[in-house]
Amino acid sequence: MFTPEIIQRFEQTPTPFYHYDLGILKETLSVLKTEADRYNYHVHYALKANVNDTILNTIREYGLGADCVSGNEILKAKECGFESESIAFAGVGKSDREINIALDNDIFCFNCESIPEIEVINELAMSTNKVAQIALRINPNVNAKTHHYITTGLEENKFGINMWELEDVVNKLTDLSNIELIGLHFHIGSQITDLSVFKGLCLRVNEIQEWFVQRHFTLQHINVGGGLGVDYETPDNNLIPDFKSYFGLFNEFLNLLPNQQLHFELGRAVVAQCGNLITKVLYVKKGVNTNFAIVDAGMTELLRPALYQAVHKIENLSSTNNEQKYDVVGPVCESSDCFGKAITLPETQRGDIIAIRTAGAYGEVMANGYNLRELNEVLFT
Ligand SMILES: *Cc1c(COP(=O)(O)O)cnc(C)c1O
Repeated sequence: MFTPEIIQRFEQTPTPFYHYDLGILKETLSVLKTEADRYNYHVHYALKANVNDTILNTIREYGLGADCVSGNEILKAKECGFESESIAFAGVGKSDREINIALDNDIFCFNCESIPEIEVINELAMSTNKVAQIALRINPNVNAKTHHYITTGLEENKFGINMWELEDVVNKLTDLSNIELIGLHFHIGSQITDLSVFKGLCLRVNEIQEWFVQRHFTLQHINVGGGLGVDYETPDNNLIPDFKSYFGLFNEFLNLLPNQQLHFELGRAVVAQCGNLITKVLYVKKGVNTNFAIVDAGMTELLRPALYQAVHKIENLSSTNNEQKYDVVGPVCESSDCFGKAITLPETQRGDIIAIRTAGAYGEVMANGYNLRELNEVLFT
C-alpha cells in the first residue's frame, strides 16, 4: 500500500491527515458488486461510516444505494447523486425536520423503530399528502458477539421493535392512512467477524417472516442491515472483506418469498480498509516500564480506540530496524487518548511518519474539535 513515492508525499503533507487509497476502495466495490449481483441483492452504503465527497461519488458510481441515519445525510446523499428511490432512512430518534426532509425527497423507505414514530410519520405525511413507505425494524434478539457498545440486536438495546410488540404495531398500521408497510428491517450490530452470527439472523428472519405470512402480509423487501466486520489486526491479509461468503450465506439460509428483494446496509466493510490516519511522531518519551511515542494525532482525529477500545494496526513508515515496544499516544489530556499499548515498532524517533491503518470507517466522520484541534486536508492516492 505504501510505496516509497507515497511515503514521500506523506512526509511533505501537513499532519495529521486522512489518506484514502481509491484503488482499494474501487477494488472493494467491484468485488462487492460482483458478489451481490449474483443474487440480485441490493446494497445501500451506510453514509455514517464516511461522508467524504470523493468517496461517496465513487460508491455511487458502483451503483450502491444510500442508508442514512439523519436528515442531513439524506441531503448529502442527494447532493452526491444518489437516487431518492435508493435511500433508506434509519434511526431510533428521527426529528420532525428530518422526517420532512425524507418526505420531500420521496425516499425509498423509512426504517421505523416504534409506534410513536410511525404515528408522527403518518401525521407529517398526511399534511403533505404523501404516503410514506416504511419497513419495521424488528429486534430479532440475536447476539452479534461484538463490542457491547456496537451490539444493537438484543432486547435490552434501545433499537427496534420487539417481537412481543408486533401484534400491536401491525394492528395500529391498519388505522394509518398515510403509511404503507413495504418491508422488514434488521440490524444487529457492527464489526461482526463471526459469520455464523448472520446465519443465526437468517434463521430468526425466516421465523419472523412466517409470522407475517400467517397474517397474510406479503412484504416487498427484507433488509438485513449491515455489520460485516473487517480485519483490523492484519489488514494486509484481508484488504477486501469476504463478500462472497457473506452474501452466499444469506443465499443459503434466508428464505425469500417469490419476488421479494433482499437489501443490505454496509458501511464499515466498504470503506474501512481504504483509509489510514497519517500522523507524525512529536516526541519519544521514556516511561517507567515503556516508551511513549507521542504523535500529533489523537482521539480528536480517530475516536474509536478511546470510544470502544478498538484496535488499529500501527506502522512506522520511516524506520525499519531495531524493534522495540512503544505505547503510541496522542496529545490530548485524557488517558484514553492512546492508539495502542506495547506496540512493536522499529526504533522510532521524532519526525517519523506513522500510519494508523483501517481508519476509513468511523474515522474522519467522528473527528471533533475538542481542544480546538483541526484535521488537515485529506490526501487521495
Ligand atoms: C450503522 C448502521 C449500519 C452500518 O453498519 P456497518 O457495521 O458499518 O456495516 C447499517 N444500518 C444501520 C441501521 C446502522 O445503524
